[in-house]
This record gives sequence, C-alpha cells and structure tokens, in this order.
Amino acid sequence: MKMLSVVLPAYNEEKMIVRAAQEIGKVLDDARISYELVFVDDGSKDTTWRKIEETAKENPHITGVHFSRNFGKEAAMFAGLANAKGDCCVVMDCDLQHPPETLVEMYRLWEDGYEVVEGVKRTRGKESALHRASAGLFYRIISKAVGIDMSRASDFKLMDRRAVEAILEMPERNAFFRALSSWIGFRSTSVEFDVQERTEGESKWSTRSLIKYAVTNIVAFSSAPMQVVTFAGIAVFLLGIVLGIQTLIKYFMGHAVEGFTTVILLILLIGSIIMISLGIIGYYISKIYEEVKGRPRYLISRKIDSRIDAQNG
Ligand code: UDP
Ligand code: MG
Repeated sequence: MKMLSVVLPAYNEEKMIVRAAQEIGKVLDDARISYELVFVDDGSKDTTWRKIEETAKENPHITGVHFSRNFGKEAAMFAGLANAKGDCCVVMDCDLQHPPETLVEMYRLWEDGYEVVEGVKRTRGKESALHRASAGLFYRIISKAVGIDMSRASDFKLMDRRAVEAILEMPERNAFFRALSSWIGFRSTSVEFDVQERTEGESKWSTRSLIKYAVTNIVAFSSAPMQVVTFAGIAVFLLGIVLGIQTLIKYFMGHAVEGFTTVILLILLIGSIIMISLGIIGYYISKIYEEVKGRPRYLISRKIDSRIDAQNG
C-alpha cells in the first residue's frame, strides 16, 4: 500500500498539534489513505515539542523532528521532506489554514499519475490592505524571475517521491520552496483551496520577517536588482554627458561659475546611487558567502519515528 507523508512545520503551535493530528488523521482515515504526519518543531519556545511527543505515544502515525533553534519555515519544510518516508509528500501549515479535505483531492490526482500537485489559493483569507499590496508586488517580481504566475501560489503542495528527491538535491541554502516546485518541472497540476482563518495562536510572520523573506527570495531567484543598478548607472552617465556639454559651452562663452546648485544636486544624486548600488552588490556577495560556507540548513536535536511504514500502513 502507498503511503502519504504530511509535513507540518510548527513554530510555537502548542494549541494546534493535537487538533491538527486529529483533524488530518480523520480525513485521511475516512479516505482510506495510509499516512504519517511529520511534525517539524522549528525551535519552538512553548510546549510544542512536548505536545508532539505526547501525541506520538498514542498515535503511531506521528514522526517528530525537533530543531536545535528556530531556523525558519523554509528550513522546516526541507527537514520534513528529508525525514518523510512516504511515496508522496504534502507540505501544509499546521495551523489548519490549509484545509485537510484538500489532501484527499491532491492524493487522488497523484494516484492518477501527477507528480506535483500545487495548492493554489482561491481566496487569500483575511489580510491587511498593506500586506496584500506588498505581497502583490513581491509576487509580480518573483513571477517574472521564475517565469510563471506565482500570485496565488502557496507552500501547500503534494510531491511524488521523485520530485521530493529532486528538491532535496538542490544544494543551495536559500532555496525558495514555493518556486522550486515548479522550477523542477515534472507532470504537474493544481487544485484550488480557500485559505482558512487561523483559529488558535497567531501568525508567526512579523513585517520584518516578511520583508526579509521577500528580499532573500527575490535575490535567490533573480538578478533584476543588479540590472536596475546598471540602468541607473547608464541614466546618470547620459545625464552627466548632457550637463558636461552645457558646462563646456558656458565656459567657452565666458560666464562659468554659477551652477552651484547643479553641482550639489549631482553629488547627492550620484553619491546616493553609488551607495545603493554598493548595498545591493554587497547583499548578493553576502548571500554568496553564506552559500560558500556550506553550513547545514538546519540542525536536528531530537527525533521520533512513526511506527507506520509503507508496507503495513
Ligand atoms: N512556521 C515555522 N517556522 C517559522 C514560522 C512559521 O515553522 O519560523 C510555521 C507555522 O508554525 C505554521 C506555518 O509555518 O505552521 C505558517 O506560519 P503562519 O501561520 O504563522 O503564517 P501565515 O499563515 O500567517 O502566512
Ligand atoms: Mg497560518
């Protein structure tokens, strides 16, 4: 019998572990799908890990991975996939904002031979206008870089074992899971789902972490910022030529000094463009440095194995 691994990254989700295990378990039991639930505790500061341990004692379907500290959701998803035993894996949020019923739909499509089933947001759930607008801008840039429409993409997706192996083989640390699953190709399709409202706890993303997420992933998938810098350089160069000619003409006509304002403005303009450019280049270099150091993406401090496997599930 085939087995489905559900990867659930969890950061300070003590209130959700038991409920997620119950609700997802019920849906999959009813659909007669053999499964394991891979909880990845991303270095939670609350009792999340204890909840996972307790649940695992009674529930043979639970696999638990505990990080030595908070490494972020991207790392947690990769750890979950690396420790999943299933013939196919789904990544979903353990706050149940991704509806468990959709799992069955995804699994059936996988049985029909699809190797990647993307969960696509039909609606985005409740968000502030600013959040929606900045997410819109981020996805426009990313969609362009990746070459596909990512505006409704999510981390909720099912992948065949082969696709999972392909993702795990990516050597880069700053991998952007949401885009990688389409970058790898494979036979894919999508299902739509409505983002549910969070019932317990709160979103783990601060404005700061969202900005960091956006910048990291734009840099990881695109060199557009560098092109912008180059074009800004060319624009300023052209402006310089025009002003240079003007200054020369004035010099030969005998009334030179003047133009103090122009000088100040040019210094400010060019200086700031140079500083911004250096910042952008420096950011790419720091990312290269991070990759070159080759540190592990995450560190696991504890682990529980599920007592289910593909044969007797
Ligand atoms: N998460 C994680 N590590 C983090 C932040 C979040 O593993 O550093 C998990 C979190 O527990 C949840 C999922 O990622 O299962 C989505 O996070 P959240 O619900 O806070 O994001 P939102 O739904 O608001 O986008
Ligand atoms: Mg959520």
